[in-house]
Amino acid sequence: STVLSIETSCDETAVAIVKNRQVCSSIVNSQVAIHEQYGGVVPEVASRQHLEIINQAIALAFTQANLTWQAIDGIAVTCAPGLVGALLVGVTAAKTLAIVQQKPFIGVHHLEGHIYANYLSEPSLDPPFLSLLVSGGHTSLIYVKDCGVYETLGETRDDAAGEAFDKVARLLKLGYPGGPIIDKLAQKGNARAFLLPEGNVSQPSGGYHPYDSSFSGLKTAVLRLVQQLENTPPLPVENIAASFQESVARSLTKRAIACARDYGLNTITVGGGVAANSGLRHHLTTAATANNLRVLFPPLKFCTDNAAMIGCAAADHLDRGHTSPLTLGVQSRLPLTHVMQLYQKRD
Ligand code: ATP
Ligand code: MG
Ligand code: FE
Repeated sequence: STVLSIETSCDETAVAIVKNRQVCSSIVNSQVAIHEQYGGVVPEVASRQHLEIINQAIALAFTQANLTWQAIDGIAVTCAPGLVGALLVGVTAAKTLAIVQQKPFIGVHHLEGHIYANYLSEPSLDPPFLSLLVSGGHTSLIYVKDCGVYETLGETRDDAAGEAFDKVARLLKLGYPGGPIIDKLAQKGNARAFLLPEGNVSQPSGGYHPYDSSFSGLKTAVLRLVQQLENTPPLPVENIAASFQESVARSLTKRAIACARDYGLNTITVGGGVAANSGLRHHLTTAATANNLRVLFPPLKFCTDNAAMIGCAAADHLDRGHTSPLTLGVQSRLPLTHVMQLYQKRD
C-alpha cells in the first residue's frame, strides 16, 4: 500500500510518501541550526518549530512525489518513543488528516522505523535477522522475528552510542550533534594513538554480559585523557576522536557478531544515526565477512531520523490489517516488544 508518513519525535520535521518499500518522496527538515546554540535539543522549541513547518512539509511531500490524496491508502505517524510535545504535533496532524480524508490511521514505533530503514535499500530483506540499533537514545540488539514481533537481546546500561558521540564532542568543544563531526575528524587521526575501554558490562555470575554495553566509562576515560593532555597543548583532537570511535566500533561489532552467531542469524542490519559512522561500517563489515555473515546498512540519509522509514513500517502493518484507533496517545517511552499494542485488527 501507499502511505503518507510523518515523523516529529525529536528535532527533525519529516514527511514522506512511501509505496511499500519504495520511497516516492522524503522531506526532512532538520532543526539542528536552531538547537545547536543550546548544545542539545530544547523540547519546547522543537514542538513549536514542528508546528510551524509541518503543513508545508506535507504539501511538499505530495508535490515531490507528484501524487494526490487519491493515491494514499493510509496515514502513518511516529507515536512513541520521543519527546511528548514533539510527538503530539505529528500525531495531531496525522489524526486530523485521517478524519478529513477518511483514511486508515497507523501509529508507528520510532525504533521499528529505524529497523525498517534497511528495507528501503534492500527490498528483498525478510525476517528473521538481527538488528543493531544505534541512535541518540538507544543501543540495542533486536531479534527481528516478524513485522511487529521483536525480542530485545542486548541494551546499553547507561549512555546510548549516539549520546556518547554527542557528549565526547561537547567535552572536546566540537559542537552539536557530535557524531558526524567526530567521524570526520577520526578519519584524519590515528585510532591506535590512545587505548580506551570497550565498555564491558560485568555480570554478577562473573565474566561479561555478551550483548549489553556501557559507554559512560568510555566517556569518563576520554575526559580524563583530555584533562591530562591539556597540560601540553595543542590537543590532538583527531587522534582522540579516532581512538574513541575505534573503541565504540569495536565494542558494537564484538557484541553484534557474538549475538548473531549465538542465535544462528546470518544477517545483521544496522539502524539509527550511528549506522552512518564510518568506523562502525568498516569494523562490522570486516568482521561479518570473516564470520560468513551478511551485514546491511541503510543509505546515510535513512540512518538518522526520517519519515520514509516510518512509512515503510506502516505499509507493512497496513497490509496485515493493523490500524490504530484515533484515540491512540503518544508515549515518551515504549519498549519495542509492545509494538502490537498500537494496533487493532481490522475485520
Ligand atoms: P532515537 O532514535 O533513539 O530516539 P534519535 O532519533 O535522536 O534517537 P537518530 O536520529 O537516530 O537518534 O541519531 C542521531 C544520533 O546519531 C546523534 O547522537 C548523532 O550524533 C549520531 N550520529 C549521526 N551521524 C553519525 C556518525 N557519522 N557517526 C556517529 N554518530 C552519528
Ligand atoms: Mg535528530
Ligand atoms: Fe531516531
